[in-house]
Amino acid sequence: MFKREKLSGNRAGVLGLGKSGRAVATLLAKNGFDVLISEDAPMAHAEAFALPKGVRVETGGHSSDLFQCNFWIKSPGIFPKSPALSEAKKLGIPVFSELETALAFMPKGVRIFAVTGTNGKTTTTALLGEILKLQAQRENKGRQVFVCGNIGSPVSLCAGQVKKGDDVVIEVSSYQLEDSTYFRPNFACILNVTPDHLDHHGRMKNYIKAKAKVFKNQRTADVLVVNGADTVCVELVEKAKSKVLAFSTHPKHLLKTDVFFDGDELIFSEGHQIRPPHLKGIHNVENAMAAALMALAAGVPAKTIQAVFDKFEAMEHRIEQFAYHRGVVYVNDSKATNLDSTITALKSFEKTQNLWLILGGRDKGASYEVLLPYLKDYCKRVLIIGEAMDKIERELHGTFPLMRCGTLEKAVEMAMAGAAKGDVVLLSPACSSFDQFKDFEQRGKIFKRLVDAHIFKDRTAKKK
Ligand code: ADP
Repeated sequence: MFKREKLSGNRAGVLGLGKSGRAVATLLAKNGFDVLISEDAPMAHAEAFALPKGVRVETGGHSSDLFQCNFWIKSPGIFPKSPALSEAKKLGIPVFSELETALAFMPKGVRIFAVTGTNGKTTTTALLGEILKLQAQRENKGRQVFVCGNIGSPVSLCAGQVKKGDDVVIEVSSYQLEDSTYFRPNFACILNVTPDHLDHHGRMKNYIKAKAKVFKNQRTADVLVVNGADTVCVELVEKAKSKVLAFSTHPKHLLKTDVFFDGDELIFSEGHQIRPPHLKGIHNVENAMAAALMALAAGVPAKTIQAVFDKFEAMEHRIEQFAYHRGVVYVNDSKATNLDSTITALKSFEKTQNLWLILGGRDKGASYEVLLPYLKDYCKRVLIIGEAMDKIERELHGTFPLMRCGTLEKAVEMAMAGAAKGDVVLLSPACSSFDQFKDFEQRGKIFKRLVDAHIFKDRTAKKK
């Protein structure tokens, strides 16, 4: 694991003034470092961030001060080929990730759980976090469980509060992994690996390499949970030194699995039988399998896992059914920001061609052609929006009728005007949200608000 001694010298440069940049800068300053946060983009009101003494901020470019720092911490969003990083490499300035830096400030005797994968990270992290929390509560020894990373708050924010004996559950993105050299979780999980973030990583090979870093430093006493039907996972585990546990819901899995689903319960090779949570889609059975395998390996009793699964509810923006009006169901899957997650969402419905799918946003580099067989099986109409609209139209044109809508507002209007009893209107965009929204949460909330407003208008008109 990354040792604090690696942070030699007192001057730290933090690249990026985002959430994780500010959190790691605060952590470093509280530990006596002199920190400069350097942000490439011009930013008004940067001084409004409440940062402790010892943190200086510069925006709109990098000054020579940054290049005088002893080491840098890179925020995950920063492009790996940025000129500043190339210059740092030439100058021999060590660059660390926010994740590994945060872990260096935690005491020994803390168990680290890391969940990564293209899709299902947040759901699995939340499930595992709840299980470990209930376990700690039942033990009643004052142990704490921290759930952090991509799921919400940066690891650096909780690093200072973690005590010996605590558990830390981290949702880890490929961006964080790409920047990490020393990360070594005791329990790691790769849920699946399908094309995503190619705009950032360049090639699939780089994306896979980043994901593999979740177990690269693991030792024989550590545990790695993988999807036994995912070809990339199966290839990757050949290099693992840790104990590998596999799950799958597919009859044709490639690895010997430690759990299977009999249609009703998860059956573990060690003899436990656990009912999965009441969540839509077979993908959620896989997420439950992964969380349960990690928890069982960490010594959690099956009955504790069952208690969490029994009360776990669907998470917002993830195939979330939020409205029903005039026989039409409305579903918000704004978190589907890549092609595979949209395919997963489609597969969680019946093959009755009754879906009005809203697709599009900011393109991430993969081809939409893979959607075609699914659109034919599941969709009545596809409404396209956002920056990716032209690319989607080019790639799917002539094979499936598309409705060019441009904005989410227009797509909701058209879908609600056209959908008939028995249909489903589904926002599952397969793209990121940053072209028209702050993030996927804002996109999902606006979608729900637009639908609710139409329903309200319709009901009021009917009463008159
Ligand atoms: P992530 O944090 O990796 O984006 P989430 O748990 O937030 O994953 O789920 C986002 C979307 O990804 C879901 O709405 C669903 O469409 C899809 N998804 C979730 N779990 C899986 C899985 N195990 N396999 C494939 N797709 C999944």
